[in-house]
Amino acid sequence: MDTGHHESMSLREGIDRMVDRAALAIGLNPETANVIQSCNAVIQLKFPVCIDSKVEVFTGWWAIHSAHRLPAKGGLRFAPVVSQDETEGLAALMSYKCAIADVPFGGAKGGLLINPGNYTEEQLREIVRQFTIELARRDFINPATNVPAPDLGTSAREMAWIADTYKTLFPDDLNRDACVTGKPLERGGVAGRTEATGKGVQYALQEFFRHADLVAGAGLRDGLASQRIVIQGLGNVGYHTAKYLAEEDGCSIVAIIEHDGVVVNDNGLNVHDVRQYLAETGGLKGFTGGGYSTQGELALEMECDILIPAALESQIHAGNAMRIQTKLIVEAANGPITYQADEILRERGITILPDIYVNAGGVTVSYFEWTRNLSHMRFGRLQRRLDELRGSNYLSALETLTEKEVPDKLRREIMRGANELDLIRSGLDDTMRMAFRDILDMLRNNAHINDYRTAAYAIAINKLAQSYYELGLAVRKDS
Ligand code: NAD
Repeated sequence: MDTGHHESMSLREGIDRMVDRAALAIGLNPETANVIQSCNAVIQLKFPVCIDSKVEVFTGWWAIHSAHRLPAKGGLRFAPVVSQDETEGLAALMSYKCAIADVPFGGAKGGLLINPGNYTEEQLREIVRQFTIELARRDFINPATNVPAPDLGTSAREMAWIADTYKTLFPDDLNRDACVTGKPLERGGVAGRTEATGKGVQYALQEFFRHADLVAGAGLRDGLASQRIVIQGLGNVGYHTAKYLAEEDGCSIVAIIEHDGVVVNDNGLNVHDVRQYLAETGGLKGFTGGGYSTQGELALEMECDILIPAALESQIHAGNAMRIQTKLIVEAANGPITYQADEILRERGITILPDIYVNAGGVTVSYFEWTRNLSHMRFGRLQRRLDELRGSNYLSALETLTEKEVPDKLRREIMRGANELDLIRSGLDDTMRMAFRDILDMLRNNAHINDYRTAAYAIAINKLAQSYYELGLAVRKDS
């Protein structure tokens, strides 16, 4: 797959240019923008692990972009292509994401240069254990300062191993569970974290479609139902995004692009079947529920209503941006559109909902998990039965006053106290709605801004600048 070799600009440089563009639009002075762009700290680790009686040396990074709020939070990526530059860029995205979603964390990112598919589960556990020990030794993992989460190539399983290792190292740390988020439920995780990023993408789209003028402005017809969607990547984020949009909003997933090609079905693919096939065979080849082709990258250029890249960065670049035929791009992945491609797409009038807003659901629910770990109590434990009692009292009052019986289905709804998942989903939905409204306000109130990405960046750098002014780390001299 083409990963944007047409451009000399790295992911980090591209993100810096996006900051420059927003800084110019809001009149933030370049000196402050430079402070915001700088990555505060980065550590590179090389550590040996014994694999099959041979010693292999692994290379990993942890980058802290901003520490104005603590802990610094970031996804931990396991991939055969990871670098310090990329890790720094993704850490910066995290700072901006937290600011937009109003999550009180600094931004960080971790990376390990590895192809996880080449190792057994046992070997991976040992590698994760060793990486955790190396990070923890230097205080680069700690509930108060640095808290990783799942990302490309990692999942709840790896987070459980990290939590376990940390617990062995620091058994008397009362808050040890909060050293990592995205853990399985039985290891101190929270309901709804696994699917949080995909759910957040769905909430972002639902919020966008609540604004008929914006939908029309993007050249789309009203309503999410039956919008034709192409999705790239059916991993954690892509799968949950596609599943919820198809099952709950009635969207039609017409193409799914994976590492070995694409499956297309004009009548809509069964997302669950594709996912199962992928899990069983490791690829899409041979899937019978749609037409298969090895030309995955060409499928990005298919005519559709909404294109959702949910795999890797730099998938839409200067080389293919002119041929993209969708009306709306929803960046579920981090950095799927290069800076140059972004300029081309803006010029062509294609609407883009940016990564720093769209995929903030993961870190938002990580924030909920972290607070749950610190409080040592499940959300809703104190008020659930009280809510039920209150609902039951309302019902009795209503039935007494009206002398009518409330239908069973409604009765159950009114009487149900919120469980943890209800509360998590409600908090996530609220976060995505509020963040979108902030972006919209910025867009409408600033004559120099006419796209969602620049508006989102403007909010983020404005918030970071305020923090830095308060801390004396930057000097207020904006135009
Ligand atoms: P994942 O490892 O679960 O899934 C990635 C999927 O992409 C896999 O199915 C893989 O086979 C597929 N893929 C790999 N190369 C591909 C290619 N060339 N073309 C098409 N598909 C390809 O990772 P994820 O957690 O779903 O992350 C996906 C993206 O979302 C990344 O950019 C990540 O940084 C971002 N993200 C993830 C989270 C999270 O909570 N997991 C949160 C925010 C952002």
